[in-house]
Amino acid sequence: MDFRGFVAHATNDPDSRKVCYFLAINLAFTFVEVFTGLITNSLGLLSDAGHMFFDCSSLFISLGAAYVSTWPADESFPRGYAKVEILAVRVFFPSLFPNLTN
Ligand SMILES: [Zn+2]
Repeated sequence: MDFRGFVAHATNDPDSRKVCYFLAINLAFTFVEVFTGLITNSLGLLSDAGHMFFDCSSLFISLGAAYVSTWPADESFPRGYAKVEILAVRVFFPSLFPNLTN
């Protein structure tokens, strides 16, 4: 997985670009919540910032999976990498809905 290919896919693919915009907005809100939470000594804001950070990690995993799923089939995976997106959902779904996956 090369970083340049990942960045090129994230910026050129229209759907991935939308995810990038949302990731940037979400990350900005996370930093604002951390900053405001530290200044006002608010545990609520800091815990929501932690929640939003996990949202950001889920979006980042989605971007990586969308990129890997475009790889062509090879000897190791003759059917291609399309199912990587399903595996990615399996990775980040428990972080979004931890109560449903016990
Ligand atoms: Zn969330």
